[in-house]
Amino acid sequence: TADEKLRDLLLAHIHDVPDYPKPGVMFKDITPLLADAGAFAALTDALAELCRRYGATKVVGLEARGFILGAPAAVRAGVGFVPVRKAGKLPGATLAQTYELEYGTAEIEIHADALGAGDRVLVIDDVLATGGTAEASLQLIRRAGAEVAGVAVLMELSFLTGRDRLASALGDAPLEAL
Ligand code: AMP
Repeated sequence: TADEKLRDLLLAHIHDVPDYPKPGVMFKDITPLLADAGAFAALTDALAELCRRYGATKVVGLEARGFILGAPAAVRAGVGFVPVRKAGKLPGATLAQTYELEYGTAEIEIHADALGAGDRVLVIDDVLATGGTAEASLQLIRRAGAEVAGVAVLMELSFLTGRDRLASALGDAPLEAL
């Protein structure tokens, strides 16, 4: 099927890097995919199609690889792009959300006026791991007054059960892993 062809094309351009950035982690390196015009275009088209399917009015990209994947998809779908950044990087008034990591906590932010009532937001990132970052981004989107259209990732590391962690924040909204 077309879905299987896309998946094979994407998988062929993702490199597994063992023990990066620390022992025991298998890092999913998407730089070969970005460097291949055909694979990057196919990914962008698939993400833009999800924007349309779920009626998104905005794409939120998660720092940093969610920017690289989300921005061209937003352009292709004809919707705006909004960055969710690590704390301390956005110049305007922000909403902040902290979340639990394996060791300690992290904090992400969005511009307080970037979204509003009537916006339906598709969150885009490269990898769903524990789901903590995506879950916090959904909380920010709701606090900003917008609706969640869904979450779209290139890869889901299903053994980390991020889908379960995201379930209540997603509600009826879909999680799509290409
Ligand atoms: P999490 O909040 O645990 O779902 O982590 C998601 C974020 O960490 C994403 O922005 C990913 O880019 C990054 N990430 C987590 N695990 C990996 C991995 N094995 N390979 C590449 N990126 C990862």
